[in-house]
Amino acid sequence: VAEIGLPEHSVVTTCAYCGVGCAFKAEMKGEQVVRMVPWKDGKANRGHSCVKGRFAWGYATHKERILKPMIRGRIDEPWREVSWAEAIGHSAAEFRRLQQKFGMRSIGGITSSRCTNEETFLVQKLVRAGFGNNNVDTCARVCHSPTGYGLKTTFGTSAGTQDFDSVEQSDVVVIIGANPTDGHPVFASRLKQRLRRGAKLIVIDPRRTDIVRSPHIEAAYHLPLKPGTNVAVLTAMAHVIVTERLFDEAFVRDRCDVAEFEDWAEFVALEQHSPEASEQYSGVPAALVRGAARLYAAAGNGAIYYGLGVTEHSQGSTTVMAIANLAMATGNVGRPGVGVNPLRGQNNVQGACDMGSFPHELSGYRHVSDGEARDMFEKLWGKPLDEEPGLRIPNMLDAAVDGVFKGLYIQGEDILQSDPNTRHVAAGLEAMECVVVHDLFLNETANYAHVFLPGSTFLEKNGTFTNAERRIQQVRRVMTPMNGLEDWEITQALANALDLGWTYTHPSQIMDEIAAVTPSFTGVSYERLDALGSIQWPCNDKAPAGTPVMHMDHFVRGKGKFVRTEYIPTDERTGPRYPLLLTTGRILSQYNVGAQTRRTDNIVWHEEDLLEIHPHDAEQRGIKEGDWIKLASRAGETTLRATITERVAPGVVYTTFHHPLTQANVVTTEYSDWATNCPEYKVTAVQVSPSNGP
Ligand code: SF4
Repeated sequence: VAEIGLPEHSVVTTCAYCGVGCAFKAEMKGEQVVRMVPWKDGKANRGHSCVKGRFAWGYATHKERILKPMIRGRIDEPWREVSWAEAIGHSAAEFRRLQQKFGMRSIGGITSSRCTNEETFLVQKLVRAGFGNNNVDTCARVCHSPTGYGLKTTFGTSAGTQDFDSVEQSDVVVIIGANPTDGHPVFASRLKQRLRRGAKLIVIDPRRTDIVRSPHIEAAYHLPLKPGTNVAVLTAMAHVIVTERLFDEAFVRDRCDVAEFEDWAEFVALEQHSPEASEQYSGVPAALVRGAARLYAAAGNGAIYYGLGVTEHSQGSTTVMAIANLAMATGNVGRPGVGVNPLRGQNNVQGACDMGSFPHELSGYRHVSDGEARDMFEKLWGKPLDEEPGLRIPNMLDAAVDGVFKGLYIQGEDILQSDPNTRHVAAGLEAMECVVVHDLFLNETANYAHVFLPGSTFLEKNGTFTNAERRIQQVRRVMTPMNGLEDWEITQALANALDLGWTYTHPSQIMDEIAAVTPSFTGVSYERLDALGSIQWPCNDKAPAGTPVMHMDHFVRGKGKFVRTEYIPTDERTGPRYPLLLTTGRILSQYNVGAQTRRTDNIVWHEEDLLEIHPHDAEQRGIKEGDWIKLASRAGETTLRATITERVAPGVVYTTFHHPLTQANVVTTEYSDWATNCPEYKVTAVQVSPSNGP
C-alpha cells in the first residue's frame, strides 16, 4: 500500500493455488494489485486465507516472465522472438507436417490443473477435433487420477462426496495420506476447530504430521504405517468391521449391491487380512488398527479425507476403493458429516478432470468409446472423433523414445520437474521434433521446447476453477494480459491455424458449450455464477443451485459397488544398497515446483527442501542437523540438507519437492498405479550418505 497508494476499486476472484479455492477481493489501483483480501462471502473460505493466496501473487509481474512468443529450430539454438502469428502458424504447420509423416496419433497435448475449466476444455477440444486423436492428458495424471478411477468404480462419479461445511457435523474424522495443515491450510483450520470441539481424529500416515498432535488436539489413533502399505491397513480395518459385525446392515441392504458386499465381506474376513496378519507388512500394531476401525464404525458421522499419500502409489486406485468400501460398509455416505473426500492439490484438479482432459474420457467422464456421447460432440464440433483411447503422459514419453510420438503442446505444466524419473522425461522430450510450451516462465521443460508461447496469470484472465468440493467459482480479470492474450485466446489461435474456425469472444461462451455437452454442468452459466457466487456440480434441472452433498438417495451408479482390495507389495524394494524408504510432501509456504511462490518479491521465501531423517538413522550415518547429504536411489541422486526428527520412523525419510535445484523427482521411480499410471512418488528405496554439498 505504501508503494502503490490506496486501492480505488476491488474485484472478486479465486486463489490460483490449492484445491480449497479461497475467494479474494483483489484491491486495485488502476491495473496494479494493492493487496489481496480474503473475501468474507467466499463459501469455501468464509473470509480466511493462507499465506500463499494472500501474499504470493507477485509472480504475475515478475521480471522473469516471458511476454513475447519465441521459436528456435533446435533445442541447442538460442531463442528468437517472433510475432504471435508466426509462432502460432509455425506450431500448426509443424504439427500438420508431423502427422503427415508419422500419422494422426503421432502428436498430442497436455493441459494443467492450474488452468481454468474453459482453457482445459479448449485444449482437449483442440486435440480431439484438431489433432484427430485422444492423446490428451492433464497433470491430474500424476496426482489424483486414482481418485477418478476409484470413486467412479465404487460410487459412479469421480468426485468428493461432501462440501467443506460438512466437517462441522462429523464425529470422527479419518485423515489418510494428507497433511492439511501444510497442503490445505484453510480447510485444516476448519477441521481443527471441529476437532477442538470434540470430534475424534484418526490419522493414517507414515509421518507424524502436525495434526496428530497440535494445540488442544490429540489424535485418538495415529497409524504410522510403512510407506506403500495403505491397502493392507485399510483391508485390516475392514476385517475388524466385518468380523465384529460393526457394519451398517440397513445401508448395505438398501443402498449397495448386496451380492458384491457379501463377496467382499467373505474376502476381508479371511485371517490373512486380520490386523495381526497385516502388521507384518505395515508395521502398525494390530491393537491400533482394531481400535481405529471400531472408532470409525461406531461414529454417528464418520468422514474420511485423503491426499496424495493415498493416490501416488502402485495401488493408488485400490486404496481409493478400499476407502470407499469402508465408508459404504459403515453407512458413512450420503448425508452431511460423512463421506469420502479427496483433498485436491491444485486449484483446478477437479475441473481439469471434469473437462475431459483424460485420454479415455470426454467431459463429464463419458468414455471415448461411448458412441452416443461421441455423436453429440461430433455434431457440435463438425469433426469425426477417434474412438480409441489416447496416450497418457508416460505413454507419450515412452512412444517418443520409441520414435513414434513426435509433437506435443504443453499448457501450464512443467513435466520435467513434476513428473517422475526425470531422465526418462528428458529423453522423451528430446526425441520429439516439435515441443510447444505454453507457460509463464522458461521452465525446465522449456529447455526441450522448439516454440514458447507466453501464458497469462490468473490476474489477467476470466474463467472458472472447480475446487475440491466441486465448487465452480469465477476467476476475474483485473489486469490487461502483459503478453497480449488470455490463454484461451492462444489455444483458439492455434485451433484456427489448424482450420477449426472457432469464434469464441469470451470464456462465458466456452462455459455455455461445456454446459451443453456435460450433464453435471447443465445449469452452469456465468449469469448463474454471478447470481449465486459459486455452484457445486451437479447443477441441473433437479438441482438448479447445485449439490453440496452427493449420493443422498442413491449412488450415481445406482447401487454402491464393493471391490475386493488385495494388498500387493510394490516392486520398489529396500535392500542393502537402498535400505531406507523415501516419501514426499509439501510445506505451507511453497507450492509444488515453486514456479510461482519462489518468484514473489513481496515476501521472502526462505525454505529449502530438507530431508527429514530419524535420529537413529542419522547417527548410524554420521549425519548431524543441517549437514549436506546425498540422497541416492536406483533412478538417480540429488543433494540436500538433513534435518533430524522423530516425525519419521526409523527406516523412513521424507522430503519436499519445491526447489528446482533439489529435483526430488530425480530419485523417484518409474513404478505407477496399476489402473491409471499415477506415479508412485510416495515410495522410493534410497540410501542417505554425508556429502560436501551440491
Ligand atoms: Fe489459496 Fe489454498 Fe491458501 Fe486458500 S488455502 S489461500 S486456496 S493456497
